[in-house]
Amino acid sequence: MMRIASYALETWLPPENSHGYMSSPIMSAVSGEQIGMLGGQHLQYDAMLEHARQVGGTALRALNFHDRARLLKALAIHLGEHKDGLYQLSHLSGATKADAMIDIDGGIGTTHVFASKARRELPDGHVLLDGQLEMLSRGGSFMGQHIATPRLGVAVQINAFNFPVWGMLEKLSPAILAGVPVIVKPASSTSYIAEACVRLIIDSGILPPGSLQFIAGSTGNLLDKLDAQDIVSFTGSAATALKLRSNPNVLARSVRFIAEQDSLNATMLGQDVSIDAPEFTILVNEIVTEMTAKAGQKCTAIRRIICPADMLTPIADAVSEKLASINIGDPALASTTMGALVSDKQKADVQSVIKVLKQEARVIYGDKTPTVNGADPTRGGFVSPTLLACDDPLNASLVHEREAFGPVATLMPYQSTEEACELLNRGGGSLVASLMTNDPTIAKSVASATAAWHGRLYINNRESDSESTGHGSPLPHMLHGGPGRAGGGEELGGIRSVMHYLQRTAVQGSPRMIAAVGDTWIPGAPQSEIDIHPFRRNFNELVLGETLTTGPRRISIEDIEKFAHFTGDTFYAHMDEEAAAASPFFEGRVAHGYLLLAFAAGLFVEPSPGPVLANTGLESLQFMKPVAAGDSIQVQLTVKRKTRRTDSYGEVRWHVALNNQDNEPVAAYELHTMNSYT
Ligand code: NAP
Repeated sequence: MMRIASYALETWLPPENSHGYMSSPIMSAVSGEQIGMLGGQHLQYDAMLEHARQVGGTALRALNFHDRARLLKALAIHLGEHKDGLYQLSHLSGATKADAMIDIDGGIGTTHVFASKARRELPDGHVLLDGQLEMLSRGGSFMGQHIATPRLGVAVQINAFNFPVWGMLEKLSPAILAGVPVIVKPASSTSYIAEACVRLIIDSGILPPGSLQFIAGSTGNLLDKLDAQDIVSFTGSAATALKLRSNPNVLARSVRFIAEQDSLNATMLGQDVSIDAPEFTILVNEIVTEMTAKAGQKCTAIRRIICPADMLTPIADAVSEKLASINIGDPALASTTMGALVSDKQKADVQSVIKVLKQEARVIYGDKTPTVNGADPTRGGFVSPTLLACDDPLNASLVHEREAFGPVATLMPYQSTEEACELLNRGGGSLVASLMTNDPTIAKSVASATAAWHGRLYINNRESDSESTGHGSPLPHMLHGGPGRAGGGEELGGIRSVMHYLQRTAVQGSPRMIAAVGDTWIPGAPQSEIDIHPFRRNFNELVLGETLTTGPRRISIEDIEKFAHFTGDTFYAHMDEEAAAASPFFEGRVAHGYLLLAFAAGLFVEPSPGPVLANTGLESLQFMKPVAAGDSIQVQLTVKRKTRRTDSYGEVRWHVALNNQDNEPVAAYELHTMNSYT
């Protein structure tokens, strides 16, 4: 009998029956028997929140974004090395090895992606600059910059039962990256898998004390104690989300609330697709995968299949044929291809929703007691995949509203692309809609008619199928969430998800003040010139605002012609006086922009080997004023920002400004170099 403990104030607290609180049983998805218990402890929520805010938050915020990314990477590696025990536990929840890999390896992979994206996209500092500098004055002495800094509260993360590891790690990673401590509340039915994963995290000692606590069981009155700096991130049913987000304290204190709810995700077959087209097979495979992976208990699974009317029967036949070869059974057996729903309660829920859907749809396949390999079909959560067809979906409502959270999908015919889009949107907001078509005009019209109702649009065809990731797979790089019924939340989507745990603030002031706040030199902020060339100074020696001003270089007509013939760029603006003068931009022949860049490098580069290891690119190049033969350019190279990259070198971003002989700006860009620390 597993005793699933909570982890509060750095202590594991096993379930108990005391103080009038009772523990609850946890049942096996396979045998239906009790396998564990949880809850019943009298948790000290005030102390837990205080511990998270004062101990965890303080320690996490003392680290910068890159430090925290390194913690996540270490955590992902540690979990990867110790994940085997999690697979065994997953079988008890009805998950096959393949299902468990989606959860466990998917969760670890997501943590890896966040760790590496953070080091590429977030600053090696404490303040994230959000968007561009805004010029708020004519003279340039007053400007604005949005910044984002860690919220000073706690992230309470309440997760659904279906992905106890992935669901936890995909929320934990962005919060830790942001510098916000977390209290995790897993769904009771699969809490034993989440608890085992949290034990691995805690035992690793990688996260600072106070950054992770865990509530196995009820959250009691925790939400009543949250304040304005806290965040609730919820995944589960719409009914629970509504209840939690309307908690009076959450409303009164504007506690940030993010919800990922159930949704009636749909797939659509384009009108261009015939039975023998690759997209037909792709659709059938996607449907069968979505119905059977995790026994259909995926928030992103296909619930509605919207197809041209004449394709309904061929799709029904092809899907049924494939479903017939699914081997339902004990998820621990290698021969099993679909396991069980998480509990007999979930099975009863799914069966009752099928009954409701049958008011508007007929059964094509399933809806009967399945043959079960290696287990008792009458115990636990074994159900047959069930394919339904609703012949008049425009005049139906239940099939667009009721989610059977299991291996159940409904076919719906359409007459025109416009009608199909209307049906896609009938779900009232979904996490994902997919489209199988080989016609870009259909892709374009479906996207513009439906994107506003869906968090993700997944388009698959013969070109992408071999590398596509599947209708039902949320990826850490791409948004996961959706409008309306799907909860209105946005998770994942790369660094976007970190923003949930940061506070965005508009900062206004002089360039010197904005530069100091954002740890980034900006035009107008002080510059310092020193005798030694900046290319002779290593990463650590360089100071923000340090500037090299070069001497001038005059550009001759011979330079322009030589450059044109050397590079092959004989564009008329450089070579033909009359044609150049006819352009609204020039008065005559002008120097190539790339010639200016090349000459600029010639002016500022210090040639001998030194701390500058490589030029890795440039950004935000602007040509502001043409340069003609006879004009001169002069360069200012200023240290703008520094980012440690490896143990031996870091990236320096330089502001490069080219002015002409009248001190007018002619070009500007940001140059990136890698510089050694010594
Ligand atoms: P649920 O019953 O709404 O439970 C979700 C979570 O909320 C669980 O951790 C549950 O804990 C907790 N909870 C319930 N009542 C609570 C309360 N009064 N105070 C605090 N926490 C409370 O949903 P579920 O049955 O676990 O999950 C299935 C649903 O989630 C499906 O409808 C599915 O579509 C949706 N889902 C959505 C996504 C997504 O990303 N959008 C992902 C997965 C699942 P207990 O288990 O202890 O009650």
